[in-house]
Amino acid sequence: MRALVVEDYHPLRAAIAQALRGEGFAVDESGDGEEGAWFARGTPFDIIILDLGLPKLDGLEVLRQMRARGDQAHVLIVTARDRVEDRCAGLDAGADDYLVKPFAVPELLSRVRALLRRAYARKDPVLRIADLAIDTATHRVQRGSQDIELSQREYTLLEFLALRAGELVTREDIRSHLYDFRSESGSNVIDVYIGYLRKKIERDDLPRLLTTRRGHGYILGPA
Ligand code: CA
Repeated sequence: MRALVVEDYHPLRAAIAQALRGEGFAVDESGDGEEGAWFARGTPFDIIILDLGLPKLDGLEVLRQMRARGDQAHVLIVTARDRVEDRCAGLDAGADDYLVKPFAVPELLSRVRALLRRAYARKDPVLRIADLAIDTATHRVQRGSQDIELSQREYTLLEFLALRAGELVTREDIRSHLYDFRSESGSNVIDVYIGYLRKKIERDDLPRLLTTRRGHGYILGPA
């Protein structure tokens, strides 16, 4: 998943970005509205965390411009503006959710997860692919009734593939959306982690779920 954090108060921006990276997001950061708008124009973000009181260009204006050109990225506003009129203005400008400062970072993460569930039209936090169950809230993974222990990196990769189950996911998709795989372009780190995942989710001769299309990418789903 790819996230953009537009917030001019650096300590808060850093805390949000770090928390999102901890959840496996690839995160870009910006401290002003103009630059934030520029980032949003150039990249398909899964989620944008947007402050309203920003230097150079107000967050509401950033959002209006995005929606005016048809940008469908999910936007969560975080702001100290807490009047009803402010919240309405934010939501009516096309925000998906609104969080008033001060807030606890775990709540922000929960809101982001809920928002992305809605985005993928799912109420159930558990992704199910055949007998594989991935709980996106607790990160518990099971195949049938067997628990599968995954590292953070393996989990992040599996969830990314599961959200696109049945679709071809390229290495470039993975590199551009997942922080953990971002800095090692050109290496075979993705293949290595696909190998780890396959060993864990297809152990004991269970039916295959993870297919490699040589030279193209990977598909998670019943073979
Ligand atoms: Ca601000």
